[in-house]
Amino acid sequence: MNTPARERDLHSYAEPERVRVTHCSLSLSASFEQKSLRGAARLTVERTDASAPLILDTRDLQIESVTCSGQPVEYTLAKRDPILGSALHISLPPGTDSVTIYYATSPEASGLQWLQPEQTAGKKHPFLFSQSQSIHARSWIPLQDSPGIRFTYDARIEAPAGLTALMSAREHKHEGTTHSFVMDLPVPAYLTALAIGELQSAEVGPRTRIYAEPPVLAAAAHEFEDTERLIQTVERLYGAYRWGRYDLLILPPSFPFGGMENPCLTFVTPTVIAGDKSLVSLISHELAHSWSGNLVTNATWRDFWLNEGFTTYLENRIQEEVYGLEQALMEQVLDRRDLEKELLEFPPPDQILHIDLTGRDPDEGCTHIPYIKGALFLRLMEQTFGRSAFDDFLRRYFDHFAFQSVTTAEALAYLRAELFAHFPDKAAAVPVDEWVTHPGLPLSAPHAHSPQLEKIAQGAGPSHNWKTQEWLEFLQTRPCPISLRTMAALDAQWRLTNSGNYEILAEWLGLAIETNYAPAFPKLRAFLHEVGRTRMLRHLYADMMKTPAGQTLAREIYATARSGYHPMAQTVVDKILSTSKPR
Ligand SMILES: [Zn+2]
Repeated sequence: MNTPARERDLHSYAEPERVRVTHCSLSLSASFEQKSLRGAARLTVERTDASAPLILDTRDLQIESVTCSGQPVEYTLAKRDPILGSALHISLPPGTDSVTIYYATSPEASGLQWLQPEQTAGKKHPFLFSQSQSIHARSWIPLQDSPGIRFTYDARIEAPAGLTALMSAREHKHEGTTHSFVMDLPVPAYLTALAIGELQSAEVGPRTRIYAEPPVLAAAAHEFEDTERLIQTVERLYGAYRWGRYDLLILPPSFPFGGMENPCLTFVTPTVIAGDKSLVSLISHELAHSWSGNLVTNATWRDFWLNEGFTTYLENRIQEEVYGLEQALMEQVLDRRDLEKELLEFPPPDQILHIDLTGRDPDEGCTHIPYIKGALFLRLMEQTFGRSAFDDFLRRYFDHFAFQSVTTAEALAYLRAELFAHFPDKAAAVPVDEWVTHPGLPLSAPHAHSPQLEKIAQGAGPSHNWKTQEWLEFLQTRPCPISLRTMAALDAQWRLTNSGNYEILAEWLGLAIETNYAPAFPKLRAFLHEVGRTRMLRHLYADMMKTPAGQTLAREIYATARSGYHPMAQTVVDKILSTSKPR
């Protein structure tokens, strides 16, 4: 059989078919004064083409020298591309299979956020965390930064006394101020992660520790105490957990995402600590990535739906198993509403699962579309072929591609051979091409019905035991326009402006902007100075930008809040404030 050439990753300068990095040995020291990591990366390479240079991805790194066996070697750092950064070409002497790059990161490194003590829960110590996905690892490690290239790593991190350093690794220990780590399973660059801060930990299961700042630890340990049950559930459905430990690190609220599936150590926003476990689906999601994403990885960022669509589907299956069908259905209904909103906002090319990201920053592909449309595609297959046949297929998919990166074409070829071919009559009901290469939501998308949420749509009012999803349904489906009197009455009775649940609060603040409910504005201001979760910022700033008065408020808040946001969140909000026009 003639194997077609594999689609190239447009977001990396690397040429792994000639020289490939197989191991990275890091030695870095963190300076909070200079907002910089400084040290060396020693890379082990596999050379298929003996005459080829090693080509690495970098962004804003200050390269100090490059050596092989202690001798300097020639290198060139190319001109900086605004999206990709600068290619680093290193001439490898004959016979050598390792090279050491001495470097320092820039204070503006796109993959690092250096927090002042006042931006943390404890307020006493600074905090550093990395966020390497999509192509930000290159801003703190010179690497072949493509999800299609896997390597093992070890690291020695020097952190200030009293602070703990953690990485996405299988082993760690520390002596004095030196923290060392080993990741002996091959991972792509976007899964390398580091955090340094005042952290304590609590054991909540045989393979799970929660790391958090001291003021947050008890609440987090309670909220996520079911983690072992979640792991056992996925293992029963899709096979063994292969990474050893599954720990959680709760970050300060400026963390730009809900969570990040860094292997062995999921990074989590504190905004999902609701007190009633109603937002634990985030952990189910990040945990599911230990199969879909970390074990079987999208080969390029075009194939992101393979990571996120599969994971969002798995997430809901875990939720159903552990928290019941009703909880899972409520989450499906709300997810679909989020997707439908985005399908109105994004142009047709952005609505395609196998999105064309030529000339674009892959972070722009991180919309609800790969997640929720992708999950609906999988749910359609589950319904068409039956749950047990589909589960069996998924289990084989994870085994077959374990520790490999796959393209959409490769995944679909496997799907056709290992699932569709076994059920030719049923396969006709799944228009694969429409799902994967067309914009919009196919008519074959399954609908979810939640009896619990339907009661609210039919007029059931709030109750003290409502979960987050019921509140979101209630707030999202209020008939417009909502009067100020109604807003004030709801607030008086349910104290929504003072809600300690960030999801409910963000939804309420959005409604306050829409209705110009001024009593909530001081809280809006405080919220936008505390929380840096990009999805919430995007909604609240975009809502404000719809009216002239809101625009003034948005600019005024952003002027002081911006410096507290992660570089990725800054990019998103900058764009909203520069392009929005009043309706
Ligand atoms: Zn995800």
